Amino acid sequence: MDHFLYRSGTLHAEDVALADIARTVGTPFYCYSTATLTRHYQLFTEALSPMPHLVCFAIKSLSNVAVLKTLGNLGAGMDVVSGGEYLRAKAAGVPGERIVFSGVGKTREEMRLVLEGGIRQFNVESEPEMRAISEVATAMGVTAPITIRVNPDVDARTHEKIATGKKENKFGIPIARASEVYAEAARLPGIEVVGIDVHIGSQLTELEPFEQAYLKVADLTRRLRAEGHDIRRLDLGGGLGIPYQRSNEAPPLPVEYGALIKRTVGDLGCEIEIEPGRLISGNSGVLVSGVIYVKNGEGRDFLILDAAMNDLVRPSMYGAWHDIVPVEEPAPAAEKQEYDVVGPVCETGDTFAKARPLPKLAEGDLVAFRSAGAYGAVMASEYNTRPLVPEVLVNGDHYAVIRARPTFDEILARDTIPEWL
Ligand SMILES: *Cc1c(COP(=O)(O)O)cnc(C)c1O
Repeated sequence: MDHFLYRSGTLHAEDVALADIARTVGTPFYCYSTATLTRHYQLFTEALSPMPHLVCFAIKSLSNVAVLKTLGNLGAGMDVVSGGEYLRAKAAGVPGERIVFSGVGKTREEMRLVLEGGIRQFNVESEPEMRAISEVATAMGVTAPITIRVNPDVDARTHEKIATGKKENKFGIPIARASEVYAEAARLPGIEVVGIDVHIGSQLTELEPFEQAYLKVADLTRRLRAEGHDIRRLDLGGGLGIPYQRSNEAPPLPVEYGALIKRTVGDLGCEIEIEPGRLISGNSGVLVSGVIYVKNGEGRDFLILDAAMNDLVRPSMYGAWHDIVPVEEPAPAAEKQEYDVVGPVCETGDTFAKARPLPKLAEGDLVAFRSAGAYGAVMASEYNTRPLVPEVLVNGDHYAVIRARPTFDEILARDTIPEWL
């Protein structure tokens, strides 16, 4: 459920008409709904209660500090994958004890940064990384809490670019070698093992792969405890999928996912952490864009928008589907016509949808890409020197620009011309 609905014939974010925002901010822009972010976060905490748990929002899906503060104020933890994301979480007022640090390539500099600022745990992805954390923490005279990310070798049955739990993927250590790696962890100075971490991929639309992975984690917990390790925390990752094509997709609900967690690892007495990104942020955001031209091509009509692949890369990068809806509500019986929906970037890959049935649209009309909150703005670039797309946060009947569109002067000022030119 989300809070983007037609009211009085025009699409609203909560109580604000998107067309009103478009008039002041200009298009394209991302718009997020506070009520939807809040609701999705709460669905997870309710699904995990009464187990002791922490829902760590995966910042990489949507990292605007205002969004992080919205969730952080509710008590959310944060899952960060870089020093920069850590600083964003801190800037949002989230204390270090609610921040977990994931990612395969943490640098020593990043390790120092988070150890200075405070960190709940490192999710360690390899032995060399574990040794580096041990060295850095020892040199600083502190102890770093760690979990080790295990790769359970299960098929997440999702897009190959976002599957992470198969043995050929770069993530984690093979679960079969866990005993050996935990034994080394126990010997190393400066680190303390607190649990196990697993994350098998993103946009999972079935529970079965989670079940396989979590059963393996449960077995591993018992084995490692028998070997003398104090496994008290299980970080079960993120990855629950959302319906991008509302008419025919119904992925599992957080409550079903929570029940699965209880069934598979609930009796171990561990504190449970999860790292959802997309399910919290995805349907909490839309990308609003204006129609620049309607071009009648050979056997097809092109809807040329002012948003492009640099603003929302998922369709060209993953072949992803986004529902596209007109901001002005079409009449119920309005005839549909097929459009190839494209942006102005000079690449054929700059195509959002092919032969998409839509009500008839004209120059100046507005459309909204649904489910664009996750992996939207965060993956935007300034390719073609298109200013980075701005972000707006709605809360009830008011809204704020939470990242302004840069001016061309600002963009050009970032380049420097060397003295010899
Ligand atoms: C990307 C990622 C997540 C979030 O995945 P979603 O599909 O957005 O829920 C969580 N944990 C880790 C380690 C990740 O890399």
